[in-house]
Amino acid sequence: MKRYQIAGVLCLLFSLLLCACNAPPEPAASEPEQAAAEISLTPVTPFLGADNATASKSGFYRLTPNPQKGSNIVYIDYATKAAVYLCSRPECRHNDETCPSWFPFAVGGLFLDAKNEHLFCVGSADTEQEQTEVIWKMGVNGENREKFYTCSPSENLIDMVVSDGSSLYFATGVVDKETWKLKKTLKQVNIESGEAVDLMTYQDTEWLFGAFDDELLVLFFDGASRRYDAYSLETKTSRTVLTYDMNVLSRPSGDSIYLMQPLTDSTAEVLKFNIKTGETVSLCKDAPYFGSDTTTIEDIVDGRIVIHASDTRENDPEKIKRYHYAVDCETGEMTDLPLTYPMGETTDFVQIAADAGEFFVVNSGLERVKAVLNGSDGAPYETEISTSVYSMISKSDYWSGQPNYIEIDHSAIAG
Ligand SMILES: [Zn+2]
Repeated sequence: MKRYQIAGVLCLLFSLLLCACNAPPEPAASEPEQAAAEISLTPVTPFLGADNATASKSGFYRLTPNPQKGSNIVYIDYATKAAVYLCSRPECRHNDETCPSWFPFAVGGLFLDAKNEHLFCVGSADTEQEQTEVIWKMGVNGENREKFYTCSPSENLIDMVVSDGSSLYFATGVVDKETWKLKKTLKQVNIESGEAVDLMTYQDTEWLFGAFDDELLVLFFDGASRRYDAYSLETKTSRTVLTYDMNVLSRPSGDSIYLMQPLTDSTAEVLKFNIKTGETVSLCKDAPYFGSDTTTIEDIVDGRIVIHASDTRENDPEKIKRYHYAVDCETGEMTDLPLTYPMGETTDFVQIAADAGEFFVVNSGLERVKAVLNGSDGAPYETEISTSVYSMISKSDYWSGQPNYIEIDHSAIAG
């Protein structure tokens, strides 16, 4: 009897130790109050589709090439600021299909549903077993992996993914054999059952570009102007919410669409359009802007619009001036964002990868890592690819340009 008690205590101690320093996250089912809440439609990937990193409220996930073959999901816990493989199996070598963190392809995308209850991994088609794109679904701790959506051989995943917690909304594209144009189909797939419904089709000049409340935002470009249509899941109909000139940049966030409208050859006005009321307010009129092709709205995060603009008017690569700045979404106040990291002989601006409460996860560098890719003949070959080095930084230090990075402890995944 006593021996069992001691064993039990040891077990408990061991699992506590594991939790404290070196464990992937617990399944999100332990947060019933969150599961019960209604969640409106939320983009869960960047605008062009799943990236190799994603974040929940408690941690950051990235897919990183495994030097032997394939890739691993690495999890960075915000509380411990330590990186671990998304695997809690003792003695695991994390380099074959017995490991929940390992995938056979070197490059892919990650995202979570809007309730942060499931993790999804989009596999590229560069493995011998999978010739088509697949979305895998798994728990937030990597366990219970299953195929969630498998593309047909002619079909590709395209545009962003939106979720309300119970379904994913995403588009697949098929090239029309007569027109050679891409035909996109917007799908709703139930996260629990996998049941898929086609909602609507649209063209290659239209993009699933945002969501708010129960409406999906589709951006339409007709060659001269752009237009946002809102597709209601309730009525299954679209309505136009905003039309604007093609030289204006836009980015939806929450119930607003932020616009950068050129005023001179070096400035733009930043405007905020409220989708619900139709009202537009001017945030600032002197944002550095030198054309829609050299300006990017990087992100809308922590109540600010992050913008990158390059002044290429001298037509000389050595005289390009680059601007990285933020505009406050309420006051319009502009802040310079000077943090950079070296990239070859030049530098690049430090970008926000995730909002981690008081902190941001930022990419503060680049590193070359070994990866095994599959050639067009299916034969694997070893190469090096560039991946981001991530750090954490307090929000106030990022916004004020202080390079006080908090290093993430990678000792558990080293070697
Ligand atoms: Zn493992």
